[in-house]
Amino acid sequence: MTIPVMRPWIGEEEAAAAAAAVRSGWVAQGPRVAEFEAAFADSIGVAHAVAVSSCTAALHLALLAAGIGPGDEVVVPSLSFIATANAVRYVGAEPVFADVDEATQNLVPGTVAPQLTERTRAVVLVDQAGVPADLDAMRALCEPRGITVVEDAACAVGSVYRGRPVGAGAAIAAFSFHPRKLLTTGEGGMVVTPDAEAAARMRRLREHGMDVSAAQRHASQQPVIERYLETGFNYRMTDVQAAIGLVQLGKLDQLIARRRVLAERYHRVLSALPGLATITDPAYGTTNYQGFWVLLPPDFPVGRN
Ligand SMILES: *Cc1c(COP(=O)(O)O)cnc(C)c1O
Repeated sequence: MTIPVMRPWIGEEEAAAAAAAVRSGWVAQGPRVAEFEAAFADSIGVAHAVAVSSCTAALHLALLAAGIGPGDEVVVPSLSFIATANAVRYVGAEPVFADVDEATQNLVPGTVAPQLTERTRAVVLVDQAGVPADLDAMRALCEPRGITVVEDAACAVGSVYRGRPVGAGAAIAAFSFHPRKLLTTGEGGMVVTPDAEAAARMRRLREHGMDVSAAQRHASQQPVIERYLETGFNYRMTDVQAAIGLVQLGKLDQLIARRRVLAERYHRVLSALPGLATITDPAYGTTNYQGFWVLLPPDFPVGRN
């Protein structure tokens, strides 16, 4: 029997939505991306959502929007996907690794505080495997010191932190729509923020640094001469991806409910194995079960690998 680590839940509805985008003739970033951004922002309860080509791109833009650059240190978890640390390198800053808490596998103030220096400008707080990190506790440690907390919520779409969707309370948070995560657009990402200025800058940066989007230029009756205010990137999501994302977003609650039922079964069966610790909801929220991890005690008869 083969158990895939992840199988995306995509079907005829997504195929039809993608086909409709293709038939519309508008396949690059356009009206469906704008619609997906609005629906995603609404689902999180945050003012601004900026769609991009991946969560890695989202993290890069988030760090730029937070003003991180050469000479700065950024604390990241020692347990994460490499993109968390790579994004720090993209802006020329230095990743500094902090350990994670055993119960949640996430950074906590106790592991981050010893790594803070005069040069620390940001902490990237990861919601590992979908388990929400304690954002308020990290902000309370960091913000009085002028340190920005960027939430790497790549795995955590639909997870809940203190009664609100993960991302709702963050200064800036990045999500992934890679098929390894829960909600997929093939490849894709989203960065959310309550800060209008940061959102506007990230919109420019994802589109070559242009001060007018291609969609706005297309819609105008007059020739629009754009300006390039700073060195940007091509981090755009396509309308084909956004069409799939809109369908996926509509299925998210159902998808998480199903995962929580399956997780109950794993918990029940695995609790028969002595010494094994399993992923659980923290006291302040719920995981979307993007992953289901187990922690093996040192004397366990089977090794991790
Ligand atoms: C998957 C993942 C990323 C990268 O997401 P992409 O959309 O593949 O770029 C970043 N951070 C974490 C914690 C992840 O799990």
